[in-house]
Amino acid sequence: MTRPLPADPAGARQAEDPQQPGPARPPERSGPSPGAVVGALVEQARSGSPRAVARLITLVEDASPLLREVMAALAPHAGRAHVLGITGSPGVGKSTVTSALVGAYRGRGSRVGVLAVDPSSPFSGGALLGDRIRMQQHGLDPEVYVRSMASRGHLGGLSWTTPQALRVLDSAGCDVVLVETVGVGQSEVEVAGLADTTLVLLAPGMGDGVQAAKAGILEVGDVFVVNKADREGADVTVREIRAMISLGDRSEPGLWRPPVVKTTAVQAADAGIAELVLDIDRHLTWLTSTGALRVRRIRRAAEEIEAIAIQTLRSRIEDLPRGARLEALAAEVVDGRTDPYRAADQVTAALT
Ligand code: GDP
Repeated sequence: MTRPLPADPAGARQAEDPQQPGPARPPERSGPSPGAVVGALVEQARSGSPRAVARLITLVEDASPLLREVMAALAPHAGRAHVLGITGSPGVGKSTVTSALVGAYRGRGSRVGVLAVDPSSPFSGGALLGDRIRMQQHGLDPEVYVRSMASRGHLGGLSWTTPQALRVLDSAGCDVVLVETVGVGQSEVEVAGLADTTLVLLAPGMGDGVQAAKAGILEVGDVFVVNKADREGADVTVREIRAMISLGDRSEPGLWRPPVVKTTAVQAADAGIAELVLDIDRHLTWLTSTGALRVRRIRRAAEEIEAIAIQTLRSRIEDLPRGARLEALAAEVVDGRTDPYRAADQVTAALT
């Protein structure tokens, strides 16, 4: 299968090119042990090699047999990055705001990772971000890793690949990782499960307030961003969102009350972005001081473990010997010789 190139002009493309010198590739048959190869890659990634980071994320996307070693090597370095989820309907300006945020974080010297996730598409690659002119301004900055990922249809969606790619970026020393959803629908809410802080973007005049309430993204928003504040109706949208937030029970002392920030991300001055960064910082302080950060991260890790376990079980079911094979059992169910529960019992019994 040919896989489109990752969207990291500075590093990923070269990392995929066997002619290029770069971090060690996994051995074919002989050569250094997988552990040594992975160890070297992780070292290079941590010392700031975009190529090594790109190579590690490719191992995630390919569900490489080396992943076990990769994750073991990364584990001691995890948990430093502030993970931001950026969600909202297509066209509200997620990619523009993401790019403006990258600029703001780079301005204060942070190392930044960006994952643009399209869970509705089975293809990954540069096309997704390639068109995104604003992001290209960061393309040559070695302290910014930008990567498009598509996961649906590959190994079961956001729940599998994205957290692992996040781990790579986190352990590689990113101070902030922005996860932007490109697709539509459920992913808007799903991304919140991955993030420490979720930004919900809205734009004036799109009936977004109502849409947001319907899609359930009001509940997941830690910071609301009314982008395109240069357009008419921004203040109305801000009021709408404030009113909806105050309907929730978040006004109790000690609870986080999501701020609503207005931004104009296309202006040279990126109006509102500095305020947005301050609110994001405030949220991190709140998360840390209340212990909510740990709670969220434990929930996230639990989902990750579950996804890996389910994936492992799924492949073991596929590997079952002929008598217990799923298709054979399915035929028996279709013929009325057994029922699906008994068939499932046989499958699970064969796994132990
Ligand atoms: P996404 O689909 O949510 O990622 O949205 P994009 O970032 O691709 O932006 C969609 C369109 O809105 C683009 O044409 C942007 O230039 C434009 N846009 C983004 N932010 C603003 C803004 O603050 N004001 C105005 N007027 N347009 C904006």
